[in-house]
Amino acid sequence: MIRIALMSAALVVCTTSSIAADIDNLKRDAWSWLDTQTQVLEVANQNIWSYAEIGLAENKSSKELQDLLIDNGFSVESGVAGMPTAFIATYGDSGPVIGILAEFDALPGVSQAASPVPTLGPNPEAGHACGHSVFGVGSAGAAMAIKELIASGAFEGTIKLYGTPAEETGIGKVYMLRAGYFKEDDVILNWHPSDQNRASYGNTKAIANVKFMFRGSAAHASAMPWSGRSALDGVELMSAGVNYMREHIKPDARIHYVITKGGGQPNVVPPEAEVWYYIRADTFEDVTSYFGWIKEIAEAAAKMSRTELEAVEIQSEIHEMITVRALSEQTHKNLSAIGAPKWGDQEITFARTTQLEFQDPFGRIISDDTPALATHIQPLPDEPTPARASTDVGDISWFVPIGGLGVASYGYGLPTHSWPVVAATGTTIGTKALVTAAKTMTATAIDLYTDPALMERVKADWRKSRGDAPFETLIPARQMAPVSVR
Ligand SMILES: [Zn+2]
Repeated sequence: MIRIALMSAALVVCTTSSIAADIDNLKRDAWSWLDTQTQVLEVANQNIWSYAEIGLAENKSSKELQDLLIDNGFSVESGVAGMPTAFIATYGDSGPVIGILAEFDALPGVSQAASPVPTLGPNPEAGHACGHSVFGVGSAGAAMAIKELIASGAFEGTIKLYGTPAEETGIGKVYMLRAGYFKEDDVILNWHPSDQNRASYGNTKAIANVKFMFRGSAAHASAMPWSGRSALDGVELMSAGVNYMREHIKPDARIHYVITKGGGQPNVVPPEAEVWYYIRADTFEDVTSYFGWIKEIAEAAAKMSRTELEAVEIQSEIHEMITVRALSEQTHKNLSAIGAPKWGDQEITFARTTQLEFQDPFGRIISDDTPALATHIQPLPDEPTPARASTDVGDISWFVPIGGLGVASYGYGLPTHSWPVVAATGTTIGTKALVTAAKTMTATAIDLYTDPALMERVKADWRKSRGDAPFETLIPARQMAPVSVR
């Protein structure tokens, strides 16, 4: 219920336009309040960015966000769904209930300093190459601003900030959902660092995250190789089979792998080997079908190498995103009202340098008229944009309407999971992006708390888009989250 509406009704002087003006004032107050928090948010990002902890090991990063939220009056439940770094921060005890998602995991092998040229970063093992440090802090900022409004009596409701670990392996939200979280919320909001400013209205790919373990037997690789069986042969034959399979799958499919165990040294026939696959397609049905095919290839590879396919371990599996037009429209309106981040000369030079440095080994990726940093808001497309990557936000979208946005956080045209993203998100470029994201999510939440008709439209759009297909999963029943991602 909106208090301003109730007060106005009592005075019998209220008009629709005066309510709209009140809502605009609430948003402006929230944006000003967020401006006063910029330094606090910047420090939190600097810390999480420097820790650069990979999935399920985000101990310091998770604590940084939890402490920030506790300092701002939230009650925090930590270590939820069997994951020590997963947490839920809550403020309020009435409806509507809005959740905001925060991610904070880094990527292995992409260390980078806050420098526009390739330079090792504070954690030599990993870096925030998907920008999840700014993601987490921007989301926390939005939750803090909304809490201020609820605390001041501007409207009634509950705000929840979900600390969701290990997004890069599609684990955090999937296992939190399996533990029963998210499902009671009215709407969930999130954002993601991008090279552009846009309300999300796009599909994402379904994905299975699977490890295949082969068992052979060790023997001297020169003296008596006929006495050994190489588990690595099993892995290599399997991947050769999968690479032949590629010709006969739909173009939207993506299959990639890394060999996580391949033996100790060349003079020992490897007795164990492991290959880690991500199997993606635009729909859960196609991922299920490709997974079945790949499992048969693995079994055949074990036969060919006279080894054993010891285990097929599904770490996680994620569904494609259910889009919600009404939420995308509202987010677009708010982002357009706030505007793109305003970049200074130093930031523009920094981003341009990363573009030029990055394209050097790969050939030209920018032209002279490519902007260094996005300065406008992309129009909202009529139809959802095609899926490129995956996110574990997808699974939640099958149970609750999800709205989101992207904000320019690094040089235009650069790919995520690359060093320039780490570099830029560790500077004021990242700070400006996260504040813009926080303002947009706050404004959309204000609309949802204060306009029951909008909330209804959002739910109706979601129901239409969702349909009534059952939610099935490849993850075995009762399986808990893994303890580590590697
Ligand atoms: Zn990401």
